[in-house]
This record gives sequence, structure tokens and C-alpha cells, in this order.
Amino acid sequence: SRAFNFAAGPATLPEAVLRQAQEEMLEWNGVGASIVEISHRGAEFMEVARQAEADLRTLMSIPDDYAVLFLAGGATLQQALIPLNFAAPGQAADYVVTGHWGKTAIKQARTYVDARIAADGESSGFHDIPPRSEWRLTPGAAYVHYTANETIHGVEFRDIPDVGDAPLVADFSSSIAAEPLDVSRFGVIYGGAQKNLGPVGVTVVIVRRDLLERAGQPRADIMNYRSHVAGESMLNTPPTWNWYLAGLVFKWMLAEGGVDEFARRNARKSALLYGAIDGSGGFYRNDVVPAARSRMNVPFFLHDPALDAAFLKESKAAGLLALKGHRVLGGMRASIYNAMPEAGVQALVDFMRDFQNRHG
Ligand code: PLP
Repeated sequence: SRAFNFAAGPATLPEAVLRQAQEEMLEWNGVGASIVEISHRGAEFMEVARQAEADLRTLMSIPDDYAVLFLAGGATLQQALIPLNFAAPGQAADYVVTGHWGKTAIKQARTYVDARIAADGESSGFHDIPPRSEWRLTPGAAYVHYTANETIHGVEFRDIPDVGDAPLVADFSSSIAAEPLDVSRFGVIYGGAQKNLGPVGVTVVIVRRDLLERAGQPRADIMNYRSHVAGESMLNTPPTWNWYLAGLVFKWMLAEGGVDEFARRNARKSALLYGAIDGSGGFYRNDVVPAARSRMNVPFFLHDPALDAAFLKESKAAGLLALKGHRVLGGMRASIYNAMPEAGVQALVDFMRDFQNRHG
């Protein structure tokens, strides 16, 4: 009875994980209480936390010279903490803006650093990534920030950009663990869990340990990554339930074949959907240049916006949920993260053809 849910985040989770969570909600692991009722400092939860980190390290091949944090506050909080922790007051930091979330990152940073736009895709409607040769990087910048996958505009970097000496800081909220990634190319990788890793409430931060030595700016302990690393992400009460569920998702991903397998599935799913859009003779349209198209979030438009309401009503009735586009862009959007089965994308494509036949 479960529908295919194309929501952008909170997003669909693996059914096996939800079933296990349901079974364990009342009584977990022989402790006589639910996982949500036990102390984060007890031996049982400490083991959950250790295992989750170990599994994420395996899944993403995270080298030992990187710390892994599980924090509350979302990706947006990290966008403020990154300049506080890694830049001196007023120091320059470069931002590559390829969509809405790149803009939020620079907005959060402006209070603390001389945040400079090194490249901006807005003038071209965020339909492409400005070529690396045109980026204006600042010598001596504290770091270079970019958004690996723009969840709203559907623009994704295919390659890790080469930015010279400045540490690369990347928002991977909507594409983390969707394919193999050379973590050693980055200073910081961060992402909210609510797309590819689990339910909303926990945010993963992967930080190269040498950066933790930077003085940064005056800040409270709770805003200090160094303190979070020393306190094993438990400076205050962490979101234990979300952390636990993310751990179950990591185990599920490993059992399914890891990031190599998800890269293959995600390539097939996105090719199927873009193929249906491009092959519709203009009935459906995606405006992103093919080389920058996201494999996770596919925004598309009907040739006649007057059909939008019927498309949403009929798709919902067909068991295809949450296809309404983000209010910034309008139109439709299908988010097809790791947990979206290939059968879900096939059902969407079949529905789109059928809808076109009836309304074309
Ligand atoms: N960055 C990206 C790429 C996102 O998609 C989102 C949310 O959808 C955010 C940042 C903001 O994340 P949060 O709501 O966890 O702060």
C-alpha cells in the first residue's frame, strides 16, 4: 500500500529500514526499552554511534585523517559554522553559486567572512555550471565552497573542481553516498541526512583534522567543531533516534552493494527519466544542460502550465507522491535518491506517457 514518494527531503526511506524501526520501537535489542528511551551516554547507544560512524567510513571510504560528526541543526547551521570555524574574522572565502542552496550558504557566511562570489550561474538561470576557467578565486581565501548537487535547480557537479591550495568545502546534502567520492580531495563535506541518509534531524560533517587546528573566530563551544570532535558529537543530547536510523540506512546501503551499486542504479534511474522528458516531443521539458543534470533531483515542466493541477492530481491518484516543484521554480520535480527503487521511476515514466496520451 506504500506509494512511490518523490519528495525532496524529508524523502522516501528504504522500506526494510522502516519495518525494522517499527518492530524495534517498543523494545530494542533486549534492553527492555525503546532506542528512543535510552541514554545517549549508555554503553548501548555508544555502540550504536560507534557502529554508525564505522559503517559510514566504510561506505564512503573516509580516510583516518578525517573526523566524522553527527550533529543537529541541519545543513544550514553548518553553513554558518564553517566560516566561524575555518576563517579569521573578515578573511576572504570563495563561494561558487550554482543554485538556491549556494545562495543560502553565502547568506549564512556573510556575517562572519568576506564571502566572495567566485562564480555565479544565476545570470543563465542556473541551467549550467559556470566553467572552471571563468571562476575568480581569491589568493589566500580561507576555503572554496560549492554545492555538489542543487536540490531545487537540479544542477550537479560531475567532477570535483580543482581549486588549488584552498580547502574545498562542499554541501553534499542531496547527493551524499550516491556514488563513489574521493573524500581526500575535500577539506569539509557536509549534508543533512534527510535525502540519502535517513530521517531529518541529524547532519553529517566530515572534516579533515588539520583544519580543526585553525583558530577561526570567537565562538561558543557548541559552535566549535573541535569541541564536537573531542566530545564525540555528544556535547549536548544528540538526536539519538535519527542517528540510529541513519545507521540502519548505512547498513542497508552496504548490504545492497555500497556506493558503486547505487551509482549504477542512479545512472539508470536518471537516464530513464531524462529520456522520457527529452523524448516527449516538447510535452515535458528540463532546462538544465545535459552535462550538469542532477541524478538525484529532476525538475521538469509541462508545455502548458494549465495542465499542472491535473498532472499533480492524477499522479497522486496513481500512487506517485510529491511531484510538485519547489515554489522557487514551479513546475514539477522528481527526487530519486538512493532509496527510490527503479520500479518507482518506471512507474513515473509510464504515468507521464499515459498522461501525455490523454492530454497531448
Ligand atoms: N543544502 C542543500 C543542497 C539542500 O537541499 C538543503 C535542504 O533541502 C539544505 C542545504 C538545507 O538543509 P537543512 O534544511 O537541513 O538546513
